Amino acid sequence: NREWHLLSRPVGWPEVEDFALVEAPMPTPGEGQVLVRNRYLSVDPYMRGRMSAAKSYVAPFELGKVMQGGAVGEVVESRAEGIEVGDHVLHFLGWREYAAVDSAQAVKVGSAGSGDVPLSAYLGVLGMTGLTAYAGLLRTASFKEGDAVFVSGAAGAVGSQVGQIAKLKGASRVIGSAGSDEKVKLLVEEYGFDAAFNYRNGPVAEQLRAAAPDGIDVYFDNVGGDHLEAAIGSLNRDGRIAVCGMISVYNNTEPAPGPKNLARLIQTRGRIEGFLVGDHYDLQPQFVQEVGPWVASGALKHRETVVEGVENTLEAFLGVLRGDNIGKMVVKL
Ligand code: NDP
Repeated sequence: NREWHLLSRPVGWPEVEDFALVEAPMPTPGEGQVLVRNRYLSVDPYMRGRMSAAKSYVAPFELGKVMQGGAVGEVVESRAEGIEVGDHVLHFLGWREYAAVDSAQAVKVGSAGSGDVPLSAYLGVLGMTGLTAYAGLLRTASFKEGDAVFVSGAAGAVGSQVGQIAKLKGASRVIGSAGSDEKVKLLVEEYGFDAAFNYRNGPVAEQLRAAAPDGIDVYFDNVGGDHLEAAIGSLNRDGRIAVCGMISVYNNTEPAPGPKNLARLIQTRGRIEGFLVGDHYDLQPQFVQEVGPWVASGALKHRETVVEGVENTLEAFLGVLRGDNIGKMVVKL
């Protein structure tokens, strides 16, 4: 049973030396627990925050101990009522091959190959990142039909769903930004975005103005920095900005400067609001009911970048920070 430990808190970009893959004893499930053989591990940008000591909405990872994260796996031993050997569960003890999970912390999900959606979907399109897109767009950004929507990180797990949900729900125009020409092509040709640009090809503000000549009503921010400033600059009257993430600053060692044009929020009566998916799980049933059929019918497309092997989990995580992924990054064990 191999598991990933955090050895030292990264300063700036995480280094391989900050982590170790450790051979640990096989966990034994106690009363009310199940032993899970993990099949897919999730690697997510927010984990960078947990590697720091700074106080946040989740506790920092402890040094010298196994890290955590979303995972789905197969129950191989059960000492809990209602969960059988062979069931598949979603839980939070990732970054390892085997986990003893409290049954209260394990959510049963459809099994792979049963005609259901693939297991990995519960980490992405029908899981945490999917709900993030849904809740952030519909609730925090108060999306309504006819809105012009701009989303950054648009080829990623959250962003690709934001753009497509907006389209499916009647956005007048959907614009996305991403970090490569290949991703930009995908947004327009496969996901149906009306316009997209590569933020590495020129100033974001200029590219956004060209892509949204009539301005934007909603900005779904995954990135922060220049993107946020550009979005404020293009915001229409009564515009709304949902701050989901700011991946451009996660490895900064100094606080990043804020947008210089915040005063524009006065003129536009604009609203900017951060949110955490954890506060919106009441929307989960509605999310699954609405988005599930779109996924099943192919109306909402999704990609995954799958890295194989527990030993490559760290590389997969670093890949998310670098932008190696298209859609949800998962590790297959
Ligand atoms: P993604 O699948 O979008 O992967 C992250 C992407 O960020 C990369 O693929 C990369 O794509 C892009 N990126 C990396 N560095 C930069 C940069 N400097 N500038 C612009 N883009 C960059 O991850 P998720 O979908 O899981 O998460 C997206 C965002 O949502 C993150 O900020 C995350 O922290 C946040 N989040 C917030 C939640 C909440 O509850 N508020 C819940 C879940 C996620 P590219 O090639 O385009 O650069």
